[in-house]
Amino acid sequence: MPLIEQIVSNKDELKKWRHELHSIPEIAFDEEKTAQFVEQKLASFGVTVHPRMAGTGVIGSLTGKLTNKTRTDNKAIALRADLDALPIVEKTGVAYCSTHSGMMHACGHDGHTTMLLGAAQYLSTNLDFNGTVYFVFQPAEENEGGGRVFVEEGFFKKYPIDAIYGMHNWPGLEVGKFAIRSGPVMAAYDVFDIQINGKGGHAAAPQNTIDPIVIAGHVITALQNISSRQCNPQDAVVVSITRMHAGDSYNVIPESACLSGTVRTFNHRVQEKVITQLEQMVQSICDAYGAAAEIDYQKRYPSTINSDIETEHAVLAAMDVVGNGNIVCDYPPSMGSEDFSFLLNESKGCYVSIGNGDSASLHNPYYNFNDEVLTIGVSYWVRMVQLQLS
Ligand SMILES: [Zn+2]
Ligand SMILES: [Zn+2]
Repeated sequence: MPLIEQIVSNKDELKKWRHELHSIPEIAFDEEKTAQFVEQKLASFGVTVHPRMAGTGVIGSLTGKLTNKTRTDNKAIALRADLDALPIVEKTGVAYCSTHSGMMHACGHDGHTTMLLGAAQYLSTNLDFNGTVYFVFQPAEENEGGGRVFVEEGFFKKYPIDAIYGMHNWPGLEVGKFAIRSGPVMAAYDVFDIQINGKGGHAAAPQNTIDPIVIAGHVITALQNISSRQCNPQDAVVVSITRMHAGDSYNVIPESACLSGTVRTFNHRVQEKVITQLEQMVQSICDAYGAAAEIDYQKRYPSTINSDIETEHAVLAAMDVVGNGNIVCDYPPSMGSEDFSFLLNESKGCYVSIGNGDSASLHNPYYNFNDEVLTIGVSYWVRMVQLQLS
């Protein structure tokens, strides 16, 4: 079964929505205009709109006409899109570019929101399914963990579901292809700040100081040993120092130096090992040179892990839309991260990548969601509901 005809004939409207959303990008938890756009569209389709969650999160639902409402064990699934944009100055030059200065839909969440709206619209007029589908428009995917807030506010208690599904566009993957695999697909995202407290003084008399800059140099080099020497090469680990601040002058050795960075892992055991090693190394090196270290380590997002059966469901739905030959099952997992992981920690489900073609990379000021993907994504969501709520 190829793309769904009614959806294809609606392509111009989908594009119009996407461009409208693209022009009003909003950052994490401030997606007010975007949320209102979604709520108005859902209401106009006759979709039930529930109270908001996580501030700007919108939830809609439809119950199929084949549902036996006297039963209490009817099936329910949730489909999730993300609403937020990024603090980037857009350089695409498209006619519908951002009207919000310094903000841009550079991760394609405008496309994700449009595809889920398209599915809600189609299903509202094609209710021949058995069970309930929830359309989840989640805020703050970037950095702030809107998915975590959904869990904390009791999404899964309010809306008991059998599975949740997510989708992200993927530059570099051909339009018309899906990358789907079970197990880990995105890494856990941790951040750390290290402050090395030494003893400041005159740069011409280093013997009277404890130079935190030299010690920071040793720490930076040593931390690269965690992934290259201390972890099993089969375990994917990234330790990156991304920021260093120290000193203000040519002739002053400063009191302290600060390093920040990120750790990416797929596996909880490996993550804990990296944390222990990082802390031990920093403390030992600082000890050796007579300095003191303060480490602030934060786990931001867990790794995104697809469950086996729901991955098969995703493959079946995608196969119906684009054909068997267009499902890539061995696409390498990404060391990037995704807050859909919080939702997958609470429920079975699957997060798939949908090809965005040869576009600029995500988070690049020249990136744009590919409108040719819209009807494919909407058809995928619809087939998922038709197959899972049959
Ligand atoms: Zn992003
Ligand atoms: Zn994204």
